[in-house]
Amino acid sequence: MYKNYIDGQWLDGASAHANVNPSDTTDIIGHYALADAAQAGQASAAAHAAAPRWAASTPQQRADALDKIGTELLARREELGLLLSREEGKTLPEGIGEVTRAGNIFKFFAGEALRQRGDKLASVRPGVEIEVTREPVGVVGIIAPWNFPMAIPAWKIAPALAYGNTVVFKPAELVPGCAWALAEIISRAGLPAGAFNLAMGRGSQVGQAMLDDRRIAGISFTGSVATGGRVAQAAAQRLAKVQLEMGGKNPMVVLNDADLEVAVECAVQSAFFSTGQRCTASSRLIVEEGIYARFVERMQERTAALRIGHALDTGTDIGPVASGDQLEQDLRYLAIGREEGARLVCGGEHVTRATPGFYLTPAIFADCSNDMRICREEIFGPVAAIIPARNYEHALELANDTEFGLASGICSTSLKHVQHFKRHAQAGMVMVNVPTAGVDYHVPFGGRKGSSLGPREQGTFAAEFYTTVKTAYVAG
Ligand code: NAD
Repeated sequence: MYKNYIDGQWLDGASAHANVNPSDTTDIIGHYALADAAQAGQASAAAHAAAPRWAASTPQQRADALDKIGTELLARREELGLLLSREEGKTLPEGIGEVTRAGNIFKFFAGEALRQRGDKLASVRPGVEIEVTREPVGVVGIIAPWNFPMAIPAWKIAPALAYGNTVVFKPAELVPGCAWALAEIISRAGLPAGAFNLAMGRGSQVGQAMLDDRRIAGISFTGSVATGGRVAQAAAQRLAKVQLEMGGKNPMVVLNDADLEVAVECAVQSAFFSTGQRCTASSRLIVEEGIYARFVERMQERTAALRIGHALDTGTDIGPVASGDQLEQDLRYLAIGREEGARLVCGGEHVTRATPGFYLTPAIFADCSNDMRICREEIFGPVAAIIPARNYEHALELANDTEFGLASGICSTSLKHVQHFKRHAQAGMVMVNVPTAGVDYHVPFGGRKGSSLGPREQGTFAAEFYTTVKTAYVAG
């Protein structure tokens, strides 16, 4: 039984649930505690009580703790990567890559803990000096999704602690294994009791209790648009600080002058790797008429060659869908695409393998129009829609015609079009001749329109959410 970590103690939950491997549903990874609203309250109380002490910690203490966590994650990347892949279903190289990223994030913020600075300015009034400094927000509630069970918690917990906040962390129900392993490492990093708390449990109970708890001064949420809306409403009601990262319907534009192989590789990587379950996945491939037929043909060939299988098998390119519910959602959208008249070029089949799991072959719909539901709503699975465009201007218009704005990509060898696209793509991140999915850990991450709300995550920009600014006027 894996327990919750509250106020420096490992505690049983109100109930427990089994963590199932999506590559093999007979493989139970472990039984994990489920907190209820009362236990979530205990976690908030502990974080609240620990806040003054951690806020007063020295930069060296914070840097040492974060560096220790990062070092252990990197040293154990293979073992933890295996746990991640077993639990979430992405392939083993992807799992190890994600743990490596999480380790690097803790190391980055260990450095940031030492680089906290302010400004000193002369006042417009004689004899007065001004100091602008940053202070911790207080208790930060972290609510995470299941698709990056190590990296997303890392990129929220590391800056929270680096800037002197205390934490209540609620992982997604599907991935308690990574959350527990991360919490166990953090529990040995030398933080005071209560500075970091793990409350595994359901969104409707633990998550909701966190949203309603006035001791939690800021909520950093990543997940679906529907839940994000609820988080924003609850935060607005009690005027809590909030940061939301939500869905995407990311376009990738392919122009006639693109290198076809580069474009196909970018599209396959972005649309299907990690089983298409990435917020930055390219789910709309917008292709200019002159290259359209060749692009569809090469996409079909390349996609058909992908090996779909057990996440831990050597040679698997695409692991299973993460859960039965997610598989049902993908199959529902595949049916919708067919009903809407999109042409299914390949894939979309629920297939069996040696072990019982949620296996789905990557699907390509061609000849789509941007007003179809499969082009407007986030499916969050290995399903890509190819949309024809008359020319660059039309492609840009289609790319921006979405309520989302996370990542936007272009494959082209035209400097003129690339430069124009960089300026006019309505997205937080623009990718040129690289996949839309796959970002660095030391630069800002986030979107605009319906994809994000509040300050950016990661890199030095993380300070915007995890600190509050104070302006001091001193006479004399
Ligand atoms: P989800 O919204 O179902 O759940 C996210 C988290 O919110 C979970 O921990 C869940 O338990 C919690 N939650 C649910 N109801 C709640 C409530 N009433 N109050 C408080 N918390 C509640 O999302 P998911 O299915 O876990 O993740 C997939 C989604 O995440 C996709 O839409 C994807 O695009 C998005 N995502 C976005 C980014 C990004 O950075 N933009 C990154 C990864 C995933």
